[in-house]
Amino acid sequence: MAAHRDPPAITKHILKLARQIDAACLPEYVTVESRADCLPNRCFENVTRVVTQLGGRVQHGWTMRQESYFAEGAFYAVWRSPDGSLIDVTPGADKQTQILFLPDSKRVWDGEEVEPRRLLLRETPCYCGSGVPFRICHGLADD
Ligand SMILES: [Zn+2]
Repeated sequence: MAAHRDPPAITKHILKLARQIDAACLPEYVTVESRADCLPNRCFENVTRVVTQLGGRVQHGWTMRQESYFAEGAFYAVWRSPDGSLIDVTPGADKQTQILFLPDSKRVWDGEEVEPRRLLLRETPCYCGSGVPFRICHGLADD
């Protein structure tokens, strides 16, 4: 096992989901530099604290990833440092060195939980050769 996981690839499905979420932005890789005073799963509070200490501003958006039969965006926040670069200050459970991040030009966190956005990959054929998409063939049996 590698010490660090590769960041998610920018697939056509991730690009399609990104257009549905915010057509004004493109997904980009953001370096993870988690800070000692930042907690896992607290990205909004973490970034707010870093802005108070070091300046810059909060950049809301979505972490993008693709599983075998869906692409998903989870609402998230990273730090826009005073020099303009984006940095993920929140430690993750895994050891990714970069995340795939879609900035959102409009939406900001208001304290409420935000549902993840998903795109089903309808054109993934089942491995059994039925010609039926995996998620409605053997994909159902795996649930
Ligand atoms: Zn099947």
